[in-house]
Amino acid sequence: MIKINLTAEQRTEIEKMITKDIKKNSYPEIEKICNYLNDANFIKTAEFIDTEEKVIKICLLSSKTDLIDFQKKINKAYEEDSKWKCSCLIDRTREYIKDELENLYLKFSNRNAAYNILRIMKVNVCPYCNRQYTFTIRTKTSKKIGEKIVKTDLKSRPEFDHFFPKSDYPFLALSIYNLVPSCSLCNKGKSNTPSENFLYPYEESFGDKGIHFEIQNVIGNLLKQEEIIVKLQSAKKNQDLIKQYNDSFKIESLYEQHVDYISELLYKNYIFNDEAIESIYRSYEKLFKSPSELKQLILGNYKSDNFNQRPLSKLTNDILHQLNCK
Ligand SMILES: [Zn+2]
Repeated sequence: MIKINLTAEQRTEIEKMITKDIKKNSYPEIEKICNYLNDANFIKTAEFIDTEEKVIKICLLSSKTDLIDFQKKINKAYEEDSKWKCSCLIDRTREYIKDELENLYLKFSNRNAAYNILRIMKVNVCPYCNRQYTFTIRTKTSKKIGEKIVKTDLKSRPEFDHFFPKSDYPFLALSIYNLVPSCSLCNKGKSNTPSENFLYPYEESFGDKGIHFEIQNVIGNLLKQEEIIVKLQSAKKNQDLIKQYNDSFKIESLYEQHVDYISELLYKNYIFNDEAIESIYRSYEKLFKSPSELKQLILGNYKSDNFNQRPLSKLTNDILHQLNCK
């Protein structure tokens, strides 16, 4: 729904960190997978992971197209390797690759490197729903209780959704731009649906597709006579995409639970009209560059570049756009 906007500096730092982690931790184990593939005569597949450099390259694939292209190539190699082999060997090898890489991902996700990368990404809100905070913290402390030293590892982080699921795309299990920091609800919601039905958060957003929230019954709600209805609107060509987001992430149903927030926003927008803002601005001229900056603060309206810093920022922006553009 919202884009993860990473700067060139953030990408460089993330890539440095993942490269270091692969060299130190993952590659020695990937070498074992490579040996297994060679022994089972899956030579073409093994060629993709037979050097540290190649593995790092896979883990740094940085666009949706590159991730898909790589997967196509390795699928083709696997198919060629499978020719003339018995189906039990083909299945067993596929299962082995899947289990081993899934295991490697699990180990990575528990290491400091994963936490550090998430801290650099600074995705503070789930990009799929834009509702849940997804802060990352990890603090290790030790406390003396009596004679004993008790160590605590306090940690919290978003889940990593594999945009291209690790069950179908095992070689992308550690590719950092295949990992989307997300809330657990969305991670579960997306799990069984093909990835092509979703927008790739490192590149695409609802805004790019002209998909926006629209609220119905505005006047009725201000008069306390009608319930708010929240709908996602867009051109006809995007209706399937909206349906997919509603089916997997329950967007409209969940957003309708935010009636108190929406109602408050309607009142704020009504009360803090241009005249009221001008008058407040005159008292705080030194604090704000313009009346519109003050209005943004009062209404909590974020620009699209910063949507991933606060929950409901897309909804807020769309509602204010709807109310003030009529
Ligand atoms: Zn979410």
